[in-house]
Amino acid sequence: MHELAVTQSILDIVLQNASQAQATKITNIYLVIGDLSSIVDDSVQFYWDIISKDSIAEGAQLQFRRITTQFECLDCHEVYQPDGDSIICPHCGSTRIKVLSGEEFYLEAIDIEK
Ligand SMILES: [Zn+2]
Repeated sequence: MHELAVTQSILDIVLQNASQAQATKITNIYLVIGDLSSIVDDSVQFYWDIISKDSIAEGAQLQFRRITTQFECLDCHEVYQPDGDSIICPHCGSTRIKVLSGEEFYLEAIDIEK
């Protein structure tokens, strides 16, 4: 259930930014989530609706942008998307890999009203 802690920290950042911008309402929140991060969109939205209540962020829409997982093979330098849970390089069969993308989780932007 670490989505609750994650959602709480998003709310803190959002409210801080909104108050600096003298916003009266927050309408959209844009979040980037890598496919490898274990964040579940629905859980974040669920907690969001609860913890943003009675703040200027209440009712804001969470917009999720998913980042596809990409690995680079350290043996043959093939860049590829993993097939299901398998990390094996489809080119040479190596399991020595580097994660290029997919672990992201961050706040990209917010829309506000003044
Ligand atoms: Zn390879």
